[in-house]
Amino acid sequence: MTFSRRHRKCAIKTCRKPFMPISMTHKACSVECSIEVTRLAREKKAAKEAVIERREHKKRVETLKTRSDWIQDAEMWRRRRRRLEELAKGEGCISCGRSQIEVQGTESWKPGGSWDAGHFLGKGARPNLRLTLSNVWLQCKSCNGGSAKYARKQGTVSAAYRINLIAKIGLEAVEALEADHEPRHWTIDQLKEMIAEDKLAVKGLKERNELLG
Ligand SMILES: [Zn+2]
Ligand SMILES: [Zn+2]
Repeated sequence: MTFSRRHRKCAIKTCRKPFMPISMTHKACSVECSIEVTRLAREKKAAKEAVIERREHKKRVETLKTRSDWIQDAEMWRRRRRRLEELAKGEGCISCGRSQIEVQGTESWKPGGSWDAGHFLGKGARPNLRLTLSNVWLQCKSCNGGSAKYARKQGTVSAAYRINLIAKIGLEAVEALEADHEPRHWTIDQLKEMIAEDKLAVKGLKERNELLG
């Protein structure tokens, strides 16, 4: 290939000085700019490698994940989805019955900070229901975690949960939950599917909130 001796502009954006190249690959006007060209190329390469490394790391972590890790993930997404769904509907705490305004008005409020989603039948006693959506509802942090200020005694919290859940989904549905002792044998693929579904629901709810908010 013939090399035409014509002026080029320096490859460094802040410089752009015209110079006479001495080879095909000559890109910069001066030693300083050449060093800068090399530095930028190295930086670009490192960034690309970091992206690949992150992707591979994620893959490694995913293959190391056990079934119980996946169950934990799935539960987190169930809770997140339920919390956003109920908040979007304007619901309040399933246990103490306080509205969103009441809870957020009395506690130092940050977006999403005052609310959890809590199980009606706890996962310790009823692990088979830990991913059942009708067993997970919006709870204020006080009722869910029992930061003592507004929480009633734990027994009272669950009793109130039951009463309010009956009002919400009906006695029959609540009794069906209580009678459900069928063990669940989720496969990792089923768990992944559940997570994908919940992620989609969460994304939709967040977009809706942004439109409203
Ligand atoms: Zn230059
Ligand atoms: Zn509450």
